Amino acid sequence: LPDADVVALTDPDVAGLLPRPGRESDKYRRGVVGIVAGGDRFTGAAVMTVAGAIRSGAGMVRYAGQDQPAAAVRDHWPEAVISTLAPGEGIDRVGRVQAWVLGPGLGTDDDALAVAESVLADDLPVAIDADALTLAAARPYLLDRDAPTVITPHAGELSRLTGVPRQDIEAARLHHAREAARTLGVTVLLKGSTTIVAEPGRPPRINLTGTPWLASAGTGDVLSGILGTLLAAGLNCYDAASCAAYLHGAAARVAAGGAPLAATDVADALPQVTRSLT
Ligand code: AMP
Ligand code: MG
Repeated sequence: LPDADVVALTDPDVAGLLPRPGRESDKYRRGVVGIVAGGDRFTGAAVMTVAGAIRSGAGMVRYAGQDQPAAAVRDHWPEAVISTLAPGEGIDRVGRVQAWVLGPGLGTDDDALAVAESVLADDLPVAIDADALTLAAARPYLLDRDAPTVITPHAGELSRLTGVPRQDIEAARLHHAREAARTLGVTVLLKGSTTIVAEPGRPPRINLTGTPWLASAGTGDVLSGILGTLLAAGLNCYDAASCAAYLHGAAARVAAGGAPLAATDVADALPQVTRSLT
């Protein structure tokens, strides 16, 4: 496939696409993000995902998870509205959620599967990442949905989903992102040193922000949270995914400044990026 039709968003493009509150805004209209992430082993993933969503401008974040990650979210983000889930329990259609983020640190056990199935059965946009992609790799029916769906794999996760060897994906990332979007019928945000957004019928977008310092644990969870905010605000999957990658990479550059960064720093730098795009 020719690369000629690949496009990259610029600052003015993103500034034009980003939702901004006006006089008529309230927290519900700005977007309620539902987050299903984290488990007893990975409480931090829940916190990072919530951080990405709140710092990118969600009107409200509703977190649903088991006791330990819920407690971690409560400790770090008093702003989040929390529902604790019993083992095996799914989400209820409550709280005016407008888009879901599903997967970071969720685990792949039966409890994770039960809640993932309940989120994916909902008819709202969903951003699917990490452990939820692993669940879907073994259960293709999970991705078979009519509502808007974005998947955010790195090359290893995409390899599990599609069966294409990881080295082959790394050698032709654009091609495999497009193929996955076509065969799975979803928007694909393929992470890595360059991030690609592919959607059937649209020119692929490549992200030029970012820094290799992003290669650290938890940064992908922050990206998922940003994506959830933009989906909940009403952006389509294609724009939400490409703007999320853009903001995430730009925030990482601000946070890193040529030095190591923590995923939390990326989330904390998001408001500065939004300000600079005004
Ligand atoms: P994850 O794979 O979920 O841990 O997410 C890692 C994040 O860091 C993604 O947003 C990647 O695109 C980004 N990332 C990983 N490696 C690099 C790299 N070498 N250069 C730039 N960004 C990277
Ligand atoms: Mg990840």
